[in-house]
Amino acid sequence: MGFCPLVGLPSRSLFTPLLTMPTIGDVADTLELFAPASLAEEWDNVGLLVGDASWPADRVMTCLTVTPCTVQEAIKERANLIVSHHPLPFHPMKSITAETTAGQLLLKLIAAGIGVYSPHTAFDSAQAGINQHLAIGLGLQQIRPLIPAQDDFESGAGRLGLLGEELTLGELAARLKTFLDIDEGRGNTRLVGNDDQTVSRVAIACGSGGSFLAQAIAQDCDCLVTGESSFHDCLEAEARSVGLILPGHFASERFALSSLAEYVSDQISGVEVWASRTERDPLRNI
Ligand SMILES: [Zn+2]
Repeated sequence: MGFCPLVGLPSRSLFTPLLTMPTIGDVADTLELFAPASLAEEWDNVGLLVGDASWPADRVMTCLTVTPCTVQEAIKERANLIVSHHPLPFHPMKSITAETTAGQLLLKLIAAGIGVYSPHTAFDSAQAGINQHLAIGLGLQQIRPLIPAQDDFESGAGRLGLLGEELTLGELAARLKTFLDIDEGRGNTRLVGNDDQTVSRVAIACGSGGSFLAQAIAQDCDCLVTGESSFHDCLEAEARSVGLILPGHFASERFALSSLAEYVSDQISGVEVWASRTERDPLRNI
């Protein structure tokens, strides 16, 4: 699957050629330009979360989440930095011990000298972030943030756009599955609404975006595309005759980590960057 060109990004010329090995700080600076921390939600925890900015970063792995699987790959592949969409740590911690999963992962990463940088909601909301990718992938026009950032109307939470043609909810879901490369054997796209109800005004919120339903309704959207949502948000959507397309949290975000790897690789010379090759959706269909 090809990725949409990243628009409005600083050109390589902004970065002076690096004569020495790039550092975690260099990668962090590049990511901050792409997905400024000021775009992150207040409750979030973004930026450099583990490591020392002066540590070398010539091998960088992107992934959706820091898990036993992605940590194992990072260690095996001698990564010095993981760029994980979801933060670790996320919740405040009073101890880092093997008694919690987060503690176990952090101990392994620190022992191996691997840093963690998480852009999370800053990446969701960036001008060329995940929601923008989804909007372009669905063929939306006149794309704008559902909730614009205060000082930048091209960035912000979620996206809203118009389909050039009227589609049915079922046709839009099929288009989403094609874009996200979800086939019958993987993923579990679910719908609220009727396959044949028409949609033209579409809201998008990657990940767990049920909280955007009220905004989508307030802005007269026919449908909200989000990774997953609660049962009660599904009932609310049904009561308000707004379609919901739910491709799963993993599928709604994971694809964008490949384009983020390409972006970092393109911006900084001397860094090998790859999207995790072992990360999988923990949910399977039975
Ligand atoms: Zn997420």
